[in-house]
Amino acid sequence: MIELRTPTEIEQMRPAGRFVADVLVRLAEAADVGVNLLELDALAHEMIRGRGAESCYIDYHPSFGAMPFGKVLCTSVNDAVLHGLPHDYRLRDGDLLSLDFAASVDGWVSDSAISLVVGTPDQQDLDLIDTASRALDAGIAAAQAGGRIGDISAAIAAVAHGEGLSINTDFGGHGVGRTMHGDPHVPNNGRAGRGYPLKPGLVIAIEPWFLQTTDKLYTDADGWTLRSGDGSRGAHMEHTIAITPDGPVVLTARD
Ligand code: MG
Repeated sequence: MIELRTPTEIEQMRPAGRFVADVLVRLAEAADVGVNLLELDALAHEMIRGRGAESCYIDYHPSFGAMPFGKVLCTSVNDAVLHGLPHDYRLRDGDLLSLDFAASVDGWVSDSAISLVVGTPDQQDLDLIDTASRALDAGIAAAQAGGRIGDISAAIAAVAHGEGLSINTDFGGHGVGRTMHGDPHVPNNGRAGRGYPLKPGLVIAIEPWFLQTTDKLYTDADGWTLRSGDGSRGAHMEHTIAITPDGPVVLTARD
């Protein structure tokens, strides 16, 4: 079921968006060579407790998960791109790190992700992150009342295809509200003018993610982390946005 939020409810969703943005800024500052992924998860957990927020991940146990997630943050390194389960790993120079974080504040969820390079960057990694970032911007720009979900999908895909990337549509954006995942699905590829109408009050996460040379994923032995089928690296960028008559509002904006 797709739920539409009133302008008042969208205002009530802003603190969650602000909090999720603040956590990602803090984590990106903390992520450095030698820092353990478990330390990043602990930092996010500390911020959740400090804010009186609730994690969307720690008890998350969908049909495809081997067990409850048990952490509050997704940390995906190099060939891992989605659902990276934090584990005892110290970041190394040149690692491509994706951080995905969702939390509930005052009963409303926000969900956002960023990718970054720790230490000395490889140009190819920076380019992949830039492509994901531009795809996110294009998807947000297409999220206009009166349009359709396919407008967002097509805008994202145009950026990826312009860089010769192939797109996996198994995992993509989604409705966001009282819980982390709702309808509609927002695929990272599709046809403009198709799909659910973009009505004022629709709140969705838009989340392009790409792999350098494949669109195939496999699940790591940890039961969660999704890695590229060919070992190439991945990047992932995500914002939670609200459709309004005046255009899209980015609830998880970091500035
Ligand atoms: Mg997310």
